[in-house]
Amino acid sequence: MAPGPGDRRGRPRYATGKDRARRVCAAPRLRPHPDGPEDFRNRLGICGSNADWEHHAIEKQAGTGWYKYHWYCKRHVDHLERVREQLREPNSRAPEPIPNKGGLLPAYFESDWLHAYRHRLGEGWQPPAYGLSADDWPVPGADPVPPRARLRLAALDGTLLVETPGGGR
Ligand SMILES: [Zn+2]
Repeated sequence: MAPGPGDRRGRPRYATGKDRARRVCAAPRLRPHPDGPEDFRNRLGICGSNADWEHHAIEKQAGTGWYKYHWYCKRHVDHLERVREQLREPNSRAPEPIPNKGGLLPAYFESDWLHAYRHRLGEGWQPPAYGLSADDWPVPGADPVPPRARLRLAALDGTLLVETPGGGR
């Protein structure tokens, strides 16, 4: 059966990719690994040890908002903390991720989809900034990605301000 609005798999959303599968430490290698120059750790110049599930930093891509994972092993937790710190500011400027899952029903059928999704997923459910229909989502590499800054509303002395992450009002 096709996923409907009541099926959580059918909702428009961004789902992270398979780069979570191979979790090897990306910390720079200081000494050559004894397995020789063709070993991936020497070719890539990385530590290459296995990383625990929670030992990653997320880099949000500037154009798409999609996540790139950087993994670190137990010995390189300090390195991980530095990378997380370095990514904090650029990540805050990244756009909301372009959805890559769901959104097919709104592409084919007219309906009050926001109402339908909120009925099933809760009133707090937020639709993607790019729209509910998969047809409306830019395809990275094929479409120019329109700037879709997240807007913030703030009331200041009775005036409603619309603030963008770039600081424009
Ligand atoms: Zn490591």
